[in-house]
Amino acid sequence: MTVWLLGDQLHPESHVLDDTDRVLLIEATAVAARRPYHPQKLGLVFAAMRHARDALREAGYAVEYRRAETFGDALDAHFAAHPGDDLRLMRPPSYGAADRLRELVTARGGTLSLVRDDRFLCSSDAFDEWAGDDDSFRHENFYRWLRRREDVLMDGTEPAGGEWNYDESNRETPPADWSLPPVPRFDPDDLTRETLDWVTERFDTWGERSGFAWPVTRPEALDALDHFVEHRLPEFGAYQDAMLGGEYALAHSLLSSSLNLGLLGPREVVDAAVDAWHRDAAPIESVEGFVRQVLGWREFVRHVYRRTMPELAETDLLGRSRDLPTLYYDAETEMRCLDEAVTHVYERGYAHHIERLMLLSNFALVYGADPHELNEWFHFGFVDAFHWVTTPNVLGMGTFATDAFTSKPYASSGNYVDRMSDHCADCTYDVDATTGANACPFNALYWDFLDRNEGTLRGTGRMGLMYSHVDRKTDTEWDAIRERVAEVRRLARDGRL
Ligand SMILES: Cc1cc2nc3c(=O)[nH]c(=O)nc-3n(C[C@H](O)[C@H](O)[C@H](O)COP(=O)(O)OP(=O)(O)OC[C@H]3O[C@@H](n4cnc5c(N)ncnc54)[C@H](O)[C@@H]3O)c2cc1C
Ligand code: SF4
Repeated sequence: MTVWLLGDQLHPESHVLDDTDRVLLIEATAVAARRPYHPQKLGLVFAAMRHARDALREAGYAVEYRRAETFGDALDAHFAAHPGDDLRLMRPPSYGAADRLRELVTARGGTLSLVRDDRFLCSSDAFDEWAGDDDSFRHENFYRWLRRREDVLMDGTEPAGGEWNYDESNRETPPADWSLPPVPRFDPDDLTRETLDWVTERFDTWGERSGFAWPVTRPEALDALDHFVEHRLPEFGAYQDAMLGGEYALAHSLLSSSLNLGLLGPREVVDAAVDAWHRDAAPIESVEGFVRQVLGWREFVRHVYRRTMPELAETDLLGRSRDLPTLYYDAETEMRCLDEAVTHVYERGYAHHIERLMLLSNFALVYGADPHELNEWFHFGFVDAFHWVTTPNVLGMGTFATDAFTSKPYASSGNYVDRMSDHCADCTYDVDATTGANACPFNALYWDFLDRNEGTLRGTGRMGLMYSHVDRKTDTEWDAIRERVAEVRRLARDGRL
């Protein structure tokens, strides 16, 4: 029997490693050549795998590290050396992956035993038992149920601190004299540098490799967690929705890539935050806000994805087909907010949640871009992108291609950006204008979006207030809005927005 670890299953104490001393890791180049991935994404995954190989060998495992073009080629070599071997694998969360891998193994005379994925707190059986056959599940209910079950931030049967949700206190913008908390850098060692060199020579990529500073080992990921809890968790809650010019991290944890590669487990991350509250080192608003993201949203999207695939990846409730504006690819734009967000992605393979949701997705949403093209863009551009997490976030939360996650789209005008950031003050466009040559492109697109999608959206969830504003607009106003929208689309197509 051999344990097969995929490149995102790298926790050295995973239960899949129990009672074994033989491990297989496969570095397959064909997967990495499928898209023009960010060099930091490919460098991160391959460097983390190579470091895990060395750490497991040091811990006494016999690790077979096979480099090949495809999984099939590597498995040919494996079964030539170990005919009829049984491979034990943690069930991968991405749709269809387990079946595809099993076919490859059985075609070579082996067997594949799938075991529970311990990178998540809530198993598929537990989620299905909670949700039943009803697909109208909502995050808030799931979150409260899992918090109770896991006894996280609970005071008996009541939420610790008295509230389940501190969102109201968590929408602040930092004062002008805020001193930004420090962000750790994990400078590449020789092995990581060599891996990054190989990646940039071997593959067509999109993005810069020079700023690479991601944790690639378990000790580095633990340092990243400690650093976050000590320096940024205290202000995580208050400023989690804020955006500042020139700042990519603010008080965010930057832990998603480590969690998604298995370098950190969700329970230890949640426990570290709760412990900070017990030590009076972070306020309840921040700790609850963080627990909500990791124990709530991360687990929720994984299961809703599982329950709604493959339809999730194919449908679009709003039937859009426009090309994604070229500014997503070259960051050439006068729109200060999008310039900032796309540049963050290009330089680091990262943008924080509100940039992803309220800038990068929101613009594509109101513009009417094909959500599947946006999904592709997120997949190749982000270091933490994996199908099970990117697809539900982009197609569900980000663009409302499905209503499985939210009852209404996260659509907004420039007003939201102005409230939550300092971008508008530095922008060529006027955030207070909806029409005319200098008007913020978000504004006319927003009204046009509501108008175009009225048939689908007017009756949904909490859209009533927005449509009461739509109803008050005169024909003359609509003519000016449509004229501005046509101009914005022309500029976006020509790369001059
Ligand atoms: C359009 C869009 C695309 C996204 N794509 C990805 C993706 O490819 N990979 C990814 O891991 N997350 C994705 N997210 C979720 C979230 O934005 C990132 O997890 C987060 O920004 C990562 O940065 P951080 O570690 O600093 O997170 P923090 O803001 O510090 O949050 C803490 C942790 O909570 C978890 N988390 C928070 N929100 C979500 C969520 N909605 N779904 C899953 N986990 C969540 C992450 O593990 C994150 O590390 C996406 C969100 C949107 C709106
Ligand atoms: S004015 Fe509009 S385009 Fe400019 S930064 Fe503000 S929201 Fe973005």
